[in-house]
Amino acid sequence: MTTIVWFRQDLRVSDNPALKNALDEGKVVPVFIWSPEEEGDWSPGGASKVWLHHSLKSLEKSLKNLGLELVIRKGPALKTLQELQKEIKADKIYWNRRYEPEIVKRDSKIKSELDGAKSFNGSLLFEPWALEKPYKVFTPFYKACLKLGDPKKPLSNPKKGEGPKVKSLKIEELELMPTIHWEKGILKAWNPGEEGALKRMETFEVSEYGDKRDRPDISGVSHLSPHLHFGEVSPRQVWHRFNGKKNTEPFLRQLFWREFGYQILYHHPETPDSPLREEWNHFKWEGSRQDLKKWQQGETGYPIVDAGMKELWETGWMHNRVRMIVGSFLVKDLQISWLEGAKWFWDTLVDADLANNTLGWQWVGGCGADAAPYFRIFNPTLQAEKFDPNGDYVKKWIPELKDLPKSQVHTPWESDTKLDYPKPIVVHDKARKRALELYENLKK
Ligand SMILES: Cc1cc2nc3c(=O)[nH]c(=O)nc-3n(C[C@H](O)[C@H](O)[C@H](O)COP(=O)(O)OP(=O)(O)OC[C@H]3O[C@@H](n4cnc5c(N)ncnc54)[C@H](O)[C@@H]3O)c2cc1C
Repeated sequence: MTTIVWFRQDLRVSDNPALKNALDEGKVVPVFIWSPEEEGDWSPGGASKVWLHHSLKSLEKSLKNLGLELVIRKGPALKTLQELQKEIKADKIYWNRRYEPEIVKRDSKIKSELDGAKSFNGSLLFEPWALEKPYKVFTPFYKACLKLGDPKKPLSNPKKGEGPKVKSLKIEELELMPTIHWEKGILKAWNPGEEGALKRMETFEVSEYGDKRDRPDISGVSHLSPHLHFGEVSPRQVWHRFNGKKNTEPFLRQLFWREFGYQILYHHPETPDSPLREEWNHFKWEGSRQDLKKWQQGETGYPIVDAGMKELWETGWMHNRVRMIVGSFLVKDLQISWLEGAKWFWDTLVDADLANNTLGWQWVGGCGADAAPYFRIFNPTLQAEKFDPNGDYVKKWIPELKDLPKSQVHTPWESDTKLDYPKPIVVHDKARKRALELYENLKK
């Protein structure tokens, strides 16, 4: 028997149900198909493409070690799979499921048209339909998930395999790398691929996570998000690696926020583009394109916001606390739609993930599941003083502020020192008042 294993967001060989099942049953042809047009408005952004390029290189190597050659093709997916199936006379086609609305539609069609197609769960602890009913609030969702018992154990390592030789493009021919050489910072900060993911897990100090997770100046979080997004490690591997160790609940709970995001996206497929709370459809955003640009470039005059936006541009990642601060600043202080923020993150994050990004932005915007109440407006200065108390994070990303004492690093506009740094583009207290007035109107 010969099986095509269609790799998508599961770019690993360990704990990969589609690959493992296929290898256990006979010959295998692993394929990756590049078909971004099938992902609609949310096809991979610039930073994701850089990651994908390197992740595919890593997968190619791991598969070679198993005796298999990764086949690279360009889409459309259905036509490509049909041609490949004919070419190698494959009996079966296996893949691990994805849950983005456009992909669900496409994959259902593919499943109904191809003989021997079968899909597996390779990227969630539990399927979005595993609970008796859908949830819109995290805590009851989490409690219901805990009642399902421990997630399944990761699969044993796959055995070596073999398969027919098949014509393939080179990974370079997918042209995923940018033409301007902006990817250097990403590659300095990260090691895309399964090996890099496993190394991250090894070096992560889970017992300190609860105390350090809100501090962007300290490396207290796992940095696993891009590895999880591209499936270089499975959530089951992560869960079982840390479960049972000391103080792990705060970290393991985060994996359930990821599950929650997928559950919401699955049951509310409209949410990447429109608010879950419908009343927000009528809200008029007053902000300007000019302010959006300043936010994107990290030139708002609020150091914690600008540091976050610079970290994002340089490394393709931003700390969760800072994501919340820059998000609140965009939506509430600048009165710019959460969708603009979601789009910018989509293009610049290496962990850009439709479920988590939508959940995060609708939370910040106050219009999503279990969202921050509309009247909760982050004060960027107080947040910075609390979570970056010495200003180390801000100084790392804005060296222009490195000589300021810690009492002024988050309020450089109060300093007499001449600085090459912009003045605030809005006064937070005024912006806050304005936002609250506008939200009161919406309520009426
Ligand atoms: C506006 C906004 C946008 C976001 N966009 C994304 C995105 O595109 N992709 C993404 O993976 N995360 C997103 N997040 C969630 C969160 O910021 C990141 O998952 C986290 O910062 C990644 O760092 P880490 O791997 O060190 O996380 P850790 O704190 O170590 O957590 C471990 C894992 O749990 C999951 N997780 C943690 N926090 C959340 C959360 N709040 N929601 C969902 N899953 C979570 C992630 O998979 C993460 O890798 C967003 C949050 C906000 C506020």
